Amino acid sequence: MGNFKGNFLLSAPMAWLKVALLLSLVACAAARPRVVVVGAGISGLIAARELLRQGVDVTVLEANDRVGGRLWRTKVGSGANSAYIDLGAQWVGPTQLRFLALIDEFKVEKFPTWQDIAKGAKTLQWTDGALKDPTDAEQKDFLDVQGKIQELTKTIDTNAPWTHPDASALDAITVAEWAAANADTEFGLYWTLNNARSRCEPKTASFLHYLWHRTISSEGGEPQKWLIDGAAGQFPELLAAQLPRSAVRLEEPVHKIVMGKGAKPITVYTSKRKVKADAVVVAVPPYQAGRIQYDPALPASRRQLLMHTPLHNALKVMVSYPTPWWREKNLTGSAYIMGLSALQTLVVDASNPRPGSPGVLASFIAGEAAVRWNDAGKDARRAAVLADLAKVYGPEATANVVSYDEGDWPGEQWAGGAVFYMPPGTWTQFGKALRPAQWGGRLVWAGTEVAEKWAGYVEGAIVAGEKAATDAASAANGGA
Ligand SMILES: Cc1cc2nc3c(=O)[nH]c(=O)nc-3n(C[C@H](O)[C@H](O)[C@H](O)COP(=O)(O)OP(=O)(O)OC[C@H]3O[C@@H](n4cnc5c(N)ncnc54)[C@H](O)[C@@H]3O)c2cc1C
Repeated sequence: MGNFKGNFLLSAPMAWLKVALLLSLVACAAARPRVVVVGAGISGLIAARELLRQGVDVTVLEANDRVGGRLWRTKVGSGANSAYIDLGAQWVGPTQLRFLALIDEFKVEKFPTWQDIAKGAKTLQWTDGALKDPTDAEQKDFLDVQGKIQELTKTIDTNAPWTHPDASALDAITVAEWAAANADTEFGLYWTLNNARSRCEPKTASFLHYLWHRTISSEGGEPQKWLIDGAAGQFPELLAAQLPRSAVRLEEPVHKIVMGKGAKPITVYTSKRKVKADAVVVAVPPYQAGRIQYDPALPASRRQLLMHTPLHNALKVMVSYPTPWWREKNLTGSAYIMGLSALQTLVVDASNPRPGSPGVLASFIAGEAAVRWNDAGKDARRAAVLADLAKVYGPEATANVVSYDEGDWPGEQWAGGAVFYMPPGTWTQFGKALRPAQWGGRLVWAGTEVAEKWAGYVEGAIVAGEKAATDAASAANGGA
């Protein structure tokens, strides 16, 4: 008893000091601004990490049961004969500086694609039922059309494509209409459309949009120069691991965002909770942003824009074998394909060079082929893809298949497609509403689509996430 009293008297001032310290810490914590990030794709995760670095508390609300969005990896093979492959983004190029910095930061290795290493090896060309190279006239036609497009890209203001003197005319037609008027051969037309297909849906995309996209992400920047050891899909996992465990909440689609009156916080609603925030970063593709309810309603120009920004219909398919057997036949593994059932474009070797890694062929089911195969189911698509590969590469393509994997992006509820594009009339009527924040700067847009360069790529997503974090931190701190 005596001891207790003595200890109590002695320790009372210390205890009060501790309580006071605790209270001041709580007060401090309460005073820290909070930002909610909608979407745990790479853009949202980069934004969240940057917000924390800038002294802002952050909650990331993700609809899916995983982080990463359109970056998603899976393991194929087993034991020493295994490797990660990407069902979404996989390549990085030399001018994608923020993506390269992220790769270096996590000390991940990258490697050149086999096509670039295998000098003298043959790339296959499949045209209408046979392996045959295009005629000189066909080749020239395709290159002439590409030259015309290249010239036009020089005239585009990347930040404001709607200011082009011929913006109305360029934005009034689709890529397919322009190509049909400019290509002289079936080959030239097919490959002009196929070139476009990695970026948009030629039949429904505005030609102005295509020109803009080629300007901000030129092939000259070699966006497909390197593949990544362990796959690009590892970066969202690595970034999420740097955030406090409770900061990322999965399976919580945001369905409503309500602006508080005056200085009151914004409220973000999911099916499980509501979270108060001083500012919000919406890091989802515009089409997904348009599915959220905003109160007060967004300006009409912004709502119209969100109604006019689809993601294009493309599935990525990957076929894995015990080894890259085509290399022994002096093939690059790449094939240009015209006139097959499921595969409508390019096939590439996406194998990891580490000894023992599986051989991997990657391709896309896109455009008309995607429409044909969208709802057929994975088993039917697998059979069609393997049958196509067998025609081009021979029977080895169907023997010893370790794994058939696909990124069914049009079938993914929280994506809806692969890369965003704008249909005719969108840039010139609503393009200005793509980037500006709303609600006095407290509702900020991120995601690859709002980047000024490399929009539609991982690089664009990272840059957009970094910028959105700075803008949102400033708004959450009372505005710059
Ligand atoms: C098949 C394919 C191949 C590609 N290849 C390459 C490549 O080789 N190189 C390259 O640089 N880029 C490539 N890309 C593009 C690249 O993947 C994307 O640009 C990038 O991953 C986009 O990141 P993001 O964070 O902006 O969007 P996303 O990755 O789409 O992230 C958005 C997140 O928001 C979530 N979400 C959606 N709605 C809600 C909601 N209401 N509430 C909460 N969360 C929501 C989604 O689930 C998702 O996780 C490819 C894309 C595809 C599909």
